[in-house]
Amino acid sequence: MDKKYLCSACLLGVDCKYDGGNNASQKVLDFAKKEALIAICPERLGGLPSPRPRACRKGDKVIDELGNDKTAAFVKGAQETLKIANEMDVHVAILKQKSPSCGCGKIYEDFGGKIIEGDGVTAELLKKNGIKVISEEEL
Ligand code: SF4
Repeated sequence: MDKKYLCSACLLGVDCKYDGGNNASQKVLDFAKKEALIAICPERLGGLPSPRPRACRKGDKVIDELGNDKTAAFVKGAQETLKIANEMDVHVAILKQKSPSCGCGKIYEDFGGKIIEGDGVTAELLKKNGIKVISEEEL
């Protein structure tokens, strides 16, 4: 069977981003013409709407810009994403860099745009379960 990939839905042009828009990437869209990509948005899978307040990882928690603890929704979204990866026998995920869910190696520290080393909640869970995670920048 051909290799399958999970992919952040916003990179494929789905309007699931916090501001109601997307992060469409021509590089990812071109890749999607050749390979089997399964679009996921962990934050939507966790039950959050779009648009929604921005959020950042704060240690093991995820806090939105209104000060609300959104950890449970982010964890739920990560678990649902892992479930899809396992059910679809996916071993590689292409995830949006810097997101508190999808970021891989780099995430926003705050709402001022400062970047720190770290993984988003979903990227971290996928990696822990043996799934290779790359960002759209590394594709
Ligand atoms: Fe894109 Fe991931 Fe954020 Fe969803 S959670 S909007 S897929 S970066």
